[in-house]
Amino acid sequence: MECQRLQKLVKNWYLQVQSEAMAPARMVAFMENHLLECEACLADDKVREEVERIKAMILPPPKAGKTPGEEDSEEETETGEPEDEEDEDEEDDDDEEDDEI
Ligand SMILES: [Zn+2]
Repeated sequence: MECQRLQKLVKNWYLQVQSEAMAPARMVAFMENHLLECEACLADDKVREEVERIKAMILPPPKAGKTPGEEDSEEETETGEPEDEEDEDEEDDDDEEDDEI
């Protein structure tokens, strides 16, 4: 990367991304903008490569699938709940008429 300006900007943006003050996608957009506007960068063939590398670094991997050793502790709460059968007590309290005297 020849462009001092971009180097500084990237460092700056990267810190913000690290502290979650900026979205990675936003940083990518800023970099792209700079590449389009900056003459030094337009003249630099390698800067594209570097930007691509930075992009790969800051952007989350496209496939967020099965990663071994993932420390996601998502507890699955789907336990086949046994159906609560209502107790079938046979109610045998038919009192015959009240025997109160
Ligand atoms: Zn530049």
